Amino acid sequence: METIYTLEWMKQVARQARADGRVVGLVPTMGALHEGHRSLVRAAQQQCSPVIASIFVNPTQFGPNEDLHKYPQQMDADRAALEELRVDYLFAPTAKEMYPDGFRTYVTVEGLSTRLEGRSRPGHFRGVATVVLKLFEIVQAQYAFFGRKDAQQARIIRQMAADLNLDTQVVVCPTAREADGLAMSSRNAYLGPEERRVATVLYRALDEARKEITTGERDGARLVAVMRGVLDAETLAAVDYADIVDGDTFEPVTRLRRACLAVLAVFVGQTRLIDNMLIEEQDGAFLVAL
Ligand code: AMP
Repeated sequence: METIYTLEWMKQVARQARADGRVVGLVPTMGALHEGHRSLVRAAQQQCSPVIASIFVNPTQFGPNEDLHKYPQQMDADRAALEELRVDYLFAPTAKEMYPDGFRTYVTVEGLSTRLEGRSRPGHFRGVATVVLKLFEIVQAQYAFFGRKDAQQARIIRQMAADLNLDTQVVVCPTAREADGLAMSSRNAYLGPEERRVATVLYRALDEARKEITTGERDGARLVAVMRGVLDAETLAAVDYADIVDGDTFEPVTRLRRACLAVLAVFVGQTRLIDNMLIEEQDGAFLVAL
């Protein structure tokens, strides 16, 4: 695996691969790699060669009081993990390279960016959309792979790609989980032992909603109440939001329809965790994917 630090070299390598008729796949990450990231790499390898994984802790998507400066950094371990997966290129630009002095252009996907995660983290999706557009422009991959763990982010990137006529197809992959259901996340490293136990509450709340849906519940408010019941029972957990939303607009729904999401953001101690569950109608029944 070759590690590439500069935009110009990355552009040249990707341009050459496309000229050679190869299908370029991009897996953008912020590093501290876990099984969720690995699953994206494997999905990319099914469809693409070369596969380019990027590691960039993007400062513009962190709020002033967020964890930018303590975000886990483990470049050597990440490089080894990507080597083991036989990734072709690691793209690891510096912040100066991505945001040189005088940088002043940002992308905003309106509406979608101000709900849920966007409401709790003002400016977050502006930073995400901007860095992803830059990565798409630099690499011009045919496919880019994202996790459904960050469902609103994936939706916003899809919207941006459509609105701006980008040639990169956005592929969204399922959420990788620990054995006890906790969604894998680089931020799980912040959890102490007791918090780690409590952190399963997100999965437990979604799973209770899943059971209710399986036995016929269709009412949005009642499903939210079921999730709240599980979440509120954990004194160490503080709910930021718990909702049932339309999978397209991310607006709350009163009754389940076509494609919805159960979405959660919960503080466990100081650590903010998110998770979600896809709820899709098929032939009159609702199928749930956790
Ligand atoms: P991050 O490094 O947290 O910015 O995540 C990089 C990519 O990995 C994003 O597309 C995330 O949605 C995805 N990702 C993060 N956690 C998971 C997970 N548990 N399962 C699948 N994909 C994930």
